[in-house]
Amino acid sequence: MHGWQIGDSKIIRVVETEDTSMPAEALVPDATAENVLPIKWLQPHFISPEGELISSVFALLVESCGKRIVIDTCLGNDKERIVPQWNMRQGDFLNQIATAGFDRESVDYVVCTHLHPDHVGWNTMRVNGEWQPTFPNARYLFTQADWDWLDNAAVSALGDYAGDSVRPLFAAGLADLYAPDHQLTDEVRLVSMPGHSPGHIGVSIRSQGESAFVTGDMIHHPCQLAHPEWRSPFDFDGNTAQKTREQFLKDYVGSGTLVIGSHFATPAAGYVVTDNHSYKLDIENS
Ligand SMILES: [Zn+2]
Repeated sequence: MHGWQIGDSKIIRVVETEDTSMPAEALVPDATAENVLPIKWLQPHFISPEGELISSVFALLVESCGKRIVIDTCLGNDKERIVPQWNMRQGDFLNQIATAGFDRESVDYVVCTHLHPDHVGWNTMRVNGEWQPTFPNARYLFTQADWDWLDNAAVSALGDYAGDSVRPLFAAGLADLYAPDHQLTDEVRLVSMPGHSPGHIGVSIRSQGESAFVTGDMIHHPCQLAHPEWRSPFDFDGNTAQKTREQFLKDYVGSGTLVIGSHFATPAAGYVVTDNHSYKLDIENS
């Protein structure tokens, strides 16, 4: 478990998976071995010596202004999913967050960067055959645009993840819908970053002159810094997703803001710097 201190805000990264099990075709189809091996800075952290993408599913635990926030809740346990490595998982996420001092009863807010199954899983846990809120004292924040989309979507090929991981929060009266940009604490802002999903957000954390930005799936893999035009097959609107990514990189290059990529493998964060005619992730001191 590792993390970062951003001014007065503390961020802890809790990893559920980190491996090469998600192939380029599913993550970023243009990121073939042939295409990524020439991008030398991706090794050794983000691609294997064979050019396979290394990716991670993780949550961020944030303490800010006396509030406890969980950003993205990974895959969860006991959930039926068609992706084999996502199906009926039995991970130790709850032990990990307790070890980090983040008992689930102590969490004030749960923020999902978007409503996909690898970002909402631990919203709920199965207790006596029923899906109960994992964080019973938290407000769960979903963007109105993402909920409008998911609520009306056909049951996904990825399983009825709305039914087991999102709808139970509405039933429990713990869900709040909001429109980004939304200021959550004096330091934490939920910023509209649309495209991957209709209401996709990133999370800006600013404190004492220091800053971090959590990308969500606006960027899936660091190779998209070298090639912002490479897209995810899961983008709701690929054109908008690409524009959002390109604008973000323009805005944040050389900014000194620590960029935390929601599926980036360890060390998971770095600074956007120029590299020839594009960008790379500088992970020194990250
Ligand atoms: Zn994702």
